Amino acid sequence: MMITKLEEKKQSMYDTVLNQFEKTADLIGLNPNIKKILSLTNNEIIVHFPVKMDNGKVEIFTGYRVQHNNALGPYKGGLRYHPTVDVDAAKALAMWMTWKTSLAGLPYGGAKGGIQIDPRNYSLGELERITRRFTYALGENIGPEHDIPAPDVNTNAQTMAWIADTYMSTKSPSERSQNQHVVTGKPVGSGGLEGRDRATGFGVYHTIKLLHRSRGETLEGKTFIVQGFGNVGYWASKFLVEDGAILLAVQDAHATLYNAEGISVPHLLEHSSPRKGSIKGFEGAKEIDPDEFFGLECDILIPAALGNQITEENAFKIKATVVAEGANGPTNPEGEEVLLSRGITVIPDILCNSGGVIGSYFEWLQNRNGELWQMDEVLEKLEKKLTQVFKNVEGAVKEKNTDWRTAAYIIAISRIELAYNQRGIFP
Ligand code: GLU
Repeated sequence: MMITKLEEKKQSMYDTVLNQFEKTADLIGLNPNIKKILSLTNNEIIVHFPVKMDNGKVEIFTGYRVQHNNALGPYKGGLRYHPTVDVDAAKALAMWMTWKTSLAGLPYGGAKGGIQIDPRNYSLGELERITRRFTYALGENIGPEHDIPAPDVNTNAQTMAWIADTYMSTKSPSERSQNQHVVTGKPVGSGGLEGRDRATGFGVYHTIKLLHRSRGETLEGKTFIVQGFGNVGYWASKFLVEDGAILLAVQDAHATLYNAEGISVPHLLEHSSPRKGSIKGFEGAKEIDPDEFFGLECDILIPAALGNQITEENAFKIKATVVAEGANGPTNPEGEEVLLSRGITVIPDILCNSGGVIGSYFEWLQNRNGELWQMDEVLEKLEKKLTQVFKNVEGAVKEKNTDWRTAAYIIAISRIELAYNQRGIFP
């Protein structure tokens, strides 16, 4: 099998997150007992389940749900359908969720999971059966007040609707509706939140905007390049271009596109949607060698695909002055060291892409309270929350004279430490 640029080097994802955690834990002198607890995941659930395929044969699938920590509230985090999903990837991604929800001040812990499949190999009917049977296999390991999944790579509102419906169908009729918030990121009309679809991309855009604002700059005329044109890459690009920035290049697993005049975001979406997300063959840009992508001249680089993309092998090539992490874990520690030594600012994933889980929190509240929020209300609340989280991190950057990731980790870990100190360890 050909290894593409967007393949994740999954073995080191967990190393990456542990390295980030331990660096900060040592820096703040984290209580060694709490460090021990947070270095491990609480639960690692692996389920094997059968599904009947369209051709009548039965295939066995393997699904994962890793719950890292719930000191601050129910486990929270996405489910991804991707060939790189395994227990190590899920552990790493679950840990990032714990830091992300803590940093955002949400009453959640961290979890992540998914199924090791390439969804493009299955029909819609098969994906529905796979999703429903996975939900059934997870059983009470998920729940609206226990562990609340959401969309992630290659899953979407439709996937969440199937999960919600399956989970709710296992309840008695009188309990059905009070279980709707077992997942977030549902379609509007099935308990979903207006604006949840764009929440992550909006957050990426907004944190970039705030960083520029704090430097006395605007986004007008700033150039940017995006790796990944899924939900995050698309919405972030749309908001940035609407604010005057210019999209120079987009890369996905199949092609790397470049246009010095700027790539049209709506046209690229129109091209890629019916092709199961691939940008290949788009006429509004020329295709270039994938190896050229990171070295392109630009102001902002947005990795919005998979983990471990920016490494010691390519970080020295990067010309952008800001790296905004739309993806989870796109920069490995060695890559980050190179970026920081070259004066490049990295807006870390747990801040940059936290708009998604903040939007999820709003959806969860909406369901729990039996409310229906309007789009403008959602975006206003989201903007306010993101600005507050950004300012907290900016304050820590200045106060501790450190980089943005370390500052974000200091806040995230300290919140969890406080909760453990207040409550102690059972029994
Ligand atoms: N999958 C998203 C993330 O990585 C959203 C998680 C959620 O909303 O629970 O942050």
